[in-house]
Amino acid sequence: MSEFFVQNAGSSQTLIFALVISALWGVEKLVLAEPMADKSRHAALNSLFILSALPIELVCSVACVALAAWVTAHHWGLLYLLPFYDSPWVKYGVMFVVLDLLDYVYHRTMHHIPGFWRFHLVHHTDTIVDASTTVREHPGETTIRNGFLFVWILLTGASFEVLVLRQTVQTICTIFAHSAFRLPAGPARVLGWVLITPNLHHVHHHFELPYTNCNYGDVFSIWDRLFGTFANLSAEETVFGLDTHFDDPATQNCIGMIAMPFAARAAGGAVPEGCAAVEPRLPAAATS
Ligand SMILES: [Zn+2]
Repeated sequence: MSEFFVQNAGSSQTLIFALVISALWGVEKLVLAEPMADKSRHAALNSLFILSALPIELVCSVACVALAAWVTAHHWGLLYLLPFYDSPWVKYGVMFVVLDLLDYVYHRTMHHIPGFWRFHLVHHTDTIVDASTTVREHPGETTIRNGFLFVWILLTGASFEVLVLRQTVQTICTIFAHSAFRLPAGPARVLGWVLITPNLHHVHHHFELPYTNCNYGDVFSIWDRLFGTFANLSAEETVFGLDTHFDDPATQNCIGMIAMPFAARAAGGAVPEGCAAVEPRLPAAATS
């Protein structure tokens, strides 16, 4: 990892994020031949959330750098209880896997604590999942997500370098997972044993429970398999959106979505249940 990249982590991350999303969105446009006006309107609406996320991310990244430097200088956190904690295999490899597990915990928490779900549901109300859906995140969730990251740094003792590595890989995987493309069945099955593919993340964006509460993984799919939240659903059976907000006009404009967590209907939706051994079934909306 070059020194320049480490010293300019915040701007490098933003640049990678913008480049990968734009490239994938362009490929989606070319290959899927969707009407330009519809796809552009959808992307423009989602992209407005970048404006709210940027200042929060900039402030929080400064705090993250300071916190990571402090835990490293003071040998604070679970990392320093491990044997060979100085080995790159432990410092980068083990910590990467641990941070991925903690992101699974974070995502599952966002679905199961009603006060957090109110903010996370904004991401789930998108009825067209493509690369631009990646940035559809309520500023309240951006703040909560960074709050969790601070706790994870204090808990694990993650260094700044592993956080940059983790963030870079996670960003690329998350954008890939939101792609409008699906992998063919064979490669999807093989890759899906280890990684969250678009096919698996699309299940998470299915409009109704229990599928909305499945496939929480960010990079690895092993956590969903281990903790009973893994599910498959074919493209034909998958309907994007959220059953509680299909008819909500607030999903069509940015102000409406900013206010959405505070509306009465945000109290509905996800409930604390897993989805082990879920049998794929055709949703009512697709059969009518
Ligand atoms: Zn979710």
